[in-house]
Amino acid sequence: MSSGLNKSIAQLKGVGLSRAELLKTELGIFTYGDLLRHFPFRYEDRSQFHRISEIREDMEAVQLKGKVLNVQKIGEGRKQRLVAEFTDFTGKVELVWFQGIKWVEKKLFTQTDYVVYGKPARFGSKFNISHPEIELISPSSVQSKGFMPIYPLTEKLRKKYIDSKLIGQLCQNALLELGERGMPENLPAFLCEKFKMIPRHQALYLIHHPKSFSHVKHARRRLKFEELFYNQLNLIQQKLVKREHSDGQVFDRTDLLTTFYEEHLPFELTNAQKKVIKEIFFDLKSGKQMNRLLQGDVGSGKTIVSFICMLLAISSGAQCCLMAPTEILAIQHFNGLRKYAEKLGLGIELLTGSTKKKSRGPIHENLRNGSCKIIVGTHALLEDEVQFENLGFCVIDEQHRFGVAQRARLWKKNPRKYPHMLVMTATPIPRTLAMTLYGDLDVSVIDELPKGRKPIKTVHRYDSRRLEVFQFIRDELSKGRQAYIVYPLIEESEALDYKNLMDGFESISRAFPERAISIVHGKMKPQDKDFEMQRFVNGETEIMVATTVIEVGVDVPNASLMLIENAERFGLAQLHQLRGRVGRGAAQSYCILMTGVKLSRESKKRIETMVETNDGFRISEVDLELRGPGDMSGTQQSGLVDLKIANLATDGEILKYARESAIEVLDESPDLKKYPEIAHYLSSESSNALHWGQIA
Ligand code: ADP
Ligand code: MG
Repeated sequence: MSSGLNKSIAQLKGVGLSRAELLKTELGIFTYGDLLRHFPFRYEDRSQFHRISEIREDMEAVQLKGKVLNVQKIGEGRKQRLVAEFTDFTGKVELVWFQGIKWVEKKLFTQTDYVVYGKPARFGSKFNISHPEIELISPSSVQSKGFMPIYPLTEKLRKKYIDSKLIGQLCQNALLELGERGMPENLPAFLCEKFKMIPRHQALYLIHHPKSFSHVKHARRRLKFEELFYNQLNLIQQKLVKREHSDGQVFDRTDLLTTFYEEHLPFELTNAQKKVIKEIFFDLKSGKQMNRLLQGDVGSGKTIVSFICMLLAISSGAQCCLMAPTEILAIQHFNGLRKYAEKLGLGIELLTGSTKKKSRGPIHENLRNGSCKIIVGTHALLEDEVQFENLGFCVIDEQHRFGVAQRARLWKKNPRKYPHMLVMTATPIPRTLAMTLYGDLDVSVIDELPKGRKPIKTVHRYDSRRLEVFQFIRDELSKGRQAYIVYPLIEESEALDYKNLMDGFESISRAFPERAISIVHGKMKPQDKDFEMQRFVNGETEIMVATTVIEVGVDVPNASLMLIENAERFGLAQLHQLRGRVGRGAAQSYCILMTGVKLSRESKKRIETMVETNDGFRISEVDLELRGPGDMSGTQQSGLVDLKIANLATDGEILKYARESAIEVLDESPDLKKYPEIAHYLSSESSNALHWGQIA
């Protein structure tokens, strides 16, 4: 049964075929429901007019009635601007345009009355409004417009005269046509009462046609809850289904683990590491297939945890694989694990894109006959030729570079019983995001760094202090340490960035003539990259000049200094990853963030955050605040979170209640028979998704 919300948008009054097509392609609006869930992202208060004398600096926007006194062009060429003096007889403001000057000039008449709307800014003793909305005074323009919703739109839509006003009108049409019955309640009454939420149809009405900010607030709260509730309900259901249906191999023997602990463990594990190993061991014994996310800040020691868990699988006769996102990382993991594996007499192999054809054959053979217990590699592991005797435990490092589909291909390497999965990520994910993204995975956290690590000291320096910074590096190098110097590389300005990197390399060679220097960047052949990398790892070179290719994973404990050039151009997560390359040994480590003097507000906040804290979780929260969830580690592109109104950075509290409620509901009634409004909504949503999914 499909409700009115599933009706095609083409049937709506005011839409027609060509608009329907545009709404589909530009905004993904197929149905009435899609339209009503295309929420305004802000509102303009057009309910009152202000006097110019009342304007204050902190006002978001003002609406004025008055006259244009004179219009003039100031400046030349690209710096030219159009300035109009505007008065309402309580004072004067300047209206300023930097773009579309010709067009505005033609439409602007002196000594004529206008309604003006925009954000005031103080300029010396006067106020100005740049690029205001301006309309001739007429009976309709002076009428109170109340609260005007502003919708996300595209340039193409604007060109076709589809603006916020029109979208608002279309929403109005849909709401009127559907009426209360067309938007049935989808939350149980007990939840609406408990959290004092307004009914669904009312919320949908008020979000598009509020009369006050209090309306907006109530509508938003209700709709956010609804969105998060269903997100959580889906994830928790999936998790329950998985539990129910996926038998896992039972790994309950600890022979190898005991030997390793007693004879070869190179250091005392942290309590956090021990705790996580216990959690995983519990899963491996349980008879259910494990799907677990292991979060731990850079340097928290995830690798050894994964190795110890592998030993559990191997003790019971299974094989393991570890998949890393880059060749450098795979090699490093391989070298690290081989040391341990050989002591225990376990077969271990490396397989990457550049593994030679003639060595592939024996590797494949050893995997099929079971003599290779651990295989480390890149996505080359996913290829069909890679078959196992009995794959029992998979580790994926740096999750965000692999998609869900790739995880599934690993499962299928053991069709009799899916292997257990451990997904490791060093990008700390804020709790709220983890809950909405990985609500179907169990989560373990290593929240403690190995003992004896000194927190990295981070400072911000302007370019003008370069000589001083170089002197500092010189001093550190003369203590026998190594240093990274990192340059940004952004796709859009790639050519220029490479030039900067090369110029930088030259000036560093001049500044440190007595030091051996490596350079590594993405345009080098993998073999050359690895060769240079290896020289730095071996201590043959003392300075590593690089782009962000060194971002993930590389482990050189003797490197104690990280200099990041143009730090303002890096994202927070990236800065934190880069900084994580140092602070791995016993020496005091430093991270120096170099920037120009001109910093945007956001860059400033990023740099300040880095200087202030080493805590990856805190950093990821600030990152979420600054960038919004859509951007976090490519989640938007992979379609992992699709939230239209809830904001993971600010709605943690609502998410918590929504999750608790979803658990409560499923506990009470696993088949949802007791909650017909939920069951009904889920079935209408899924038929809708199917229907429109096929068409799209
Ligand atoms: P990450 O979690 O970033 O992958 P690694 O597994 O690379 O961290 O570990 C970072 C470094 O810390 C490695 O050199 C590793 O040998 C070392 N290490 C791991 N656990 C401990 C521990 N409990 N005590 C001391 N050093 C440790
Ligand atoms: Mg790692």
